[in-house]
Amino acid sequence: MPSSIALYKQIYDNFQAPVSRYDCGRKCAPLNDGVPVCCDVEHAIPLVDKQEWFLLKSRSDLWKPYRARDAQAIKELSDMHRDCRAIECKGFRSCERDNRSLACRAFPFFPYITKDDEVIGLSVFWDFADRCWVQSNLQIVEPAFVKECIAGYELLFDNDPAERKANRDHSAVMRRTFSRQNRIIPLLGREGEFLAVEPYTHEVRKAHWREYGRNETFQDEKPAVAAKR
Ligand code: SF4
Ligand code: SF4
Repeated sequence: MPSSIALYKQIYDNFQAPVSRYDCGRKCAPLNDGVPVCCDVEHAIPLVDKQEWFLLKSRSDLWKPYRARDAQAIKELSDMHRDCRAIECKGFRSCERDNRSLACRAFPFFPYITKDDEVIGLSVFWDFADRCWVQSNLQIVEPAFVKECIAGYELLFDNDPAERKANRDHSAVMRRTFSRQNRIIPLLGREGEFLAVEPYTHEVRKAHWREYGRNETFQDEKPAVAAKR
């Protein structure tokens, strides 16, 4: 069965947990003219499946189609899949928690898929590490968030193999990138446990969150208090 409005509704209903008990937007916004980075189309253009767009439109006027404002945005959207829609919301001051997209709910995480095609946890959109405070404080992530996020994506994958493939391909790009940089991939396992993917071997092992390192933007801050595990 392909993705549908009903499927996205089910995913939204079951995926409500916040990433952490912190309002992380307060941590990154001061470095971005007061706007949380992941709610700023200058940093991230929200992309949704066509069916998800139909659902959002039916629930709220929070979102509208995104119109590219410059050559960079046009280039970024040029290879967008025909079933995707680029959209933008009214801004973080008008955010409606129930009407956030799946990508909003999951950011800065995506489901990490191994070479053997197994979904083993969540990793991060590493391109945002210099602007996203959460990525320098993965110990704050609540296990309930990890479970709900993975369950939501697995429901989507069961119905939409192309979504699974996109995340598998993204995981492969991450392995190549981190191997080149000789860095471990930070990974939150299915129960929220701390894991690491070794560069080169891609072996998955237990980790301590302090091994993940912090981006230099946030290096001078005291680490935030870890969530209970
Ligand atoms: S998820 Fe990252 S980029 Fe988004 S508001 Fe939180 S710290 Fe900022
Ligand atoms: S819907 Fe909310 S979380 Fe999503 S981009 Fe807009 S302000 Fe941010």
